[in-house]
Amino acid sequence: MTDEQRSLARRLVLGAAGAAVPLTLAQAQGQAQQGQPATPTQTGPAVLADPRQKYPRPPFPRQEQPWPGLASRMDPKPDHGETSYRGSNRLAGRRALITGGDSGIGRAAAIAYAREGADVAINYLEAEEEDAREVVRLIREAGRKAVAIPGDLRQEEFCARLVEQAARDLGGLDILVNNAARQTAQTSIADITTEQFDSTMKTNLYALFWLTKAALPHLRPGSAIINTASVVAYDPPAALFDYSGTKAAIIAFTRSLAKQLAAQGIRVNAVAPGPFWTPLQPSGGQQPEALPQFGAEAPMGRPGQPAELAPTFVLLASAEASYTTGDVQGATGGRPSS
Ligand code: NAD
Ligand code: MG
Repeated sequence: MTDEQRSLARRLVLGAAGAAVPLTLAQAQGQAQQGQPATPTQTGPAVLADPRQKYPRPPFPRQEQPWPGLASRMDPKPDHGETSYRGSNRLAGRRALITGGDSGIGRAAAIAYAREGADVAINYLEAEEEDAREVVRLIREAGRKAVAIPGDLRQEEFCARLVEQAARDLGGLDILVNNAARQTAQTSIADITTEQFDSTMKTNLYALFWLTKAALPHLRPGSAIINTASVVAYDPPAALFDYSGTKAAIIAFTRSLAKQLAAQGIRVNAVAPGPFWTPLQPSGGQQPEALPQFGAEAPMGRPGQPAELAPTFVLLASAEASYTTGDVQGATGGRPSS
């Protein structure tokens, strides 16, 4: 083994390359059994944590929240890496805008980016102020600048203002994460109103288009755009007709734009998660009766936790992935993702 290989192996085992520090199996199983997110309570030698037992498994308590939902009201609470993510300067000095950065996958990315040395602006809806404050606190605790910009992405004028304000307050922009989304489960197309359809399209697609256009003048060679797609793009559930369509389009947008922007040295990638334990699900994303079994169908037997996606968002933003563009990175618990 060369020194470089040894160093890489060590980084992979210890998780210093951005992964959450693994906890002991006993810790993980104990916490999972208590229905708590499994977060490490101590540092020390890494153990081989069993991914099946690392986090809570179904059945979950039945629960509903009004849209857009709050992470703080979920049972069990999602793990966004608050106590576990350890950075190693992989995004030092970068400036990132993350939509939907208050909760779920966007919050996990925001925490990780800050701990990797980036200043971070988050967008969210006013109703999510409580979750957003928590993220702002965590970014500042990491010693980085946090900019909180609430507002509704369904409006073009706001999207343009959001990018300008983020770039102004951060002193520039290097990373755009188009992550916000609307998901409303309906068993029949007959129940999807024009208002719902419009809202899903505006949030998931139009905003991505508007934000990307507004961000481009700020992005320099080396910058990165990351879009959140979903496995439903490939295998759309019956109850997610409009949402699945937007996720398939996001993958096509990503691949097209990557070809276009390669000439400017800007990379564009997407992340396509499987089932993740976030407020999107109990606030209309799933039928309430389906939520207790959420994630059970994944070969891993449980949903993912947002913290488990943080390293993917870090890698796609970092210069280490300089040859990766037009790619779709999955994290599905074993479900085929293409
Ligand atoms: P989440 O509810 O934590 O995040 C979604 C965010 O979208 C909200 O926090 C909200 O701030 C934002 N949002 C929604 N409508 C908005 C609007 N009109 N204006 C501004 N912001 C708005 O849930 P999440 O699961 O972390 O979702 C993040 C991304 O992950 C989404 O793109 C979602 O489609 C994708 N995804 C989630 C799953 C999953 O199982 N949770 C699976 C695949 C993909
Ligand atoms: Mg939220």
